[in-house]
Amino acid sequence: MNIDGMKCSRCRKPAQHRLPSHNARFCDRCLGMFIRRQVEKAIKEFDMLQPGQKVLVAVSGGKDSLALWQVLLELGYRAEGLHLGLELGDGKFGEASLEASQAMAQRLGAKLHLFNMAQMAGHSVQQIAWANKRAFCSVCGTLKRYYLNKACLDLGFEVLATGHHLDDEAARLLGNLVRRHQHYLDSQWPTLSGAPGAFAKKIKPLCRLRAAEIKSYAKSQGWEVAKGECPRSKGATLPYYTEAVRLLEERMPGTSLNFYMGYLEDKGGPPPQPDLTQRCSVCGMPSYAQQCTICRFLENTRRRELGKSGASQD
Ligand code: AMP
Ligand code: ZN
Repeated sequence: MNIDGMKCSRCRKPAQHRLPSHNARFCDRCLGMFIRRQVEKAIKEFDMLQPGQKVLVAVSGGKDSLALWQVLLELGYRAEGLHLGLELGDGKFGEASLEASQAMAQRLGAKLHLFNMAQMAGHSVQQIAWANKRAFCSVCGTLKRYYLNKACLDLGFEVLATGHHLDDEAARLLGNLVRRHQHYLDSQWPTLSGAPGAFAKKIKPLCRLRAAEIKSYAKSQGWEVAKGECPRSKGATLPYYTEAVRLLEERMPGTSLNFYMGYLEDKGGPPPQPDLTQRCSVCGMPSYAQQCTICRFLENTRRRELGKSGASQD
């Protein structure tokens, strides 16, 4: 649909997309070029990938990771997908996520690796959250990071790309600044270097793009994407910061890119490598404590589950 008879800022054909943050309007074709250029720019600026490099894309089935996968292939990277089944207690959200990921794999003719987090952990997120008396979302996030990394290493990939975009990163930055979470501020960077056998290199090539820009792109491509919020995300605080960033962006277009990139510029460079000398006595992953967070989570869950089955036998 043409917007108010406006012309594309690049080719002067009828424009379908308005990008206030860049004071631009694009037709479908030029929006695609803009998206690819922003991804290329982020890849170069933050030393994410070498030309043609192999990369594993964490594909949730949402518009962001689907767009990322397609764009990385278009830019000539050898990108395969990794979908982690989460079993969040709402079959529909999980099913739609898997279906959208598989449909994209087929469209791209690319390989999608399927893993299941509950199988890898031996317990569901709900069981682990209950046993450890932790909020569902934070446990899910911690487990996801650990098992996405593990799956990536097990598949022999050195680089893992996620679909985090500018709204995600700016909201996270604002939240960390407001709460003065220095530890998280220290580690916020679009590329985190890897360490053989411990960490895959983590990259966020969509970090220059706004959610609305990726949404327009997904729409212009006519994709079926997994819609809706995670059924378990109620109570998370990040959406408040996301809303705040969106409001600022609406009133002052371009604010989130300036805020996020300006912060990174002041910071000057990526965080130092984490200490790799101390390892978890159970799984062997780097850990400051004798047991890493995940292995402690799992041990507490096993204990609780054993206790429950013991009690029910009495
Ligand atoms: P989220 O934390 O849900 O906003 O997701 C951020 C990014 O993490 C997504 O764009 C994906 O790259 C990745 N991701 C989230 N959930 C999954 C999943 N179930 N399987 C694979 N990748 C995921
Ligand atoms: Zn461990």
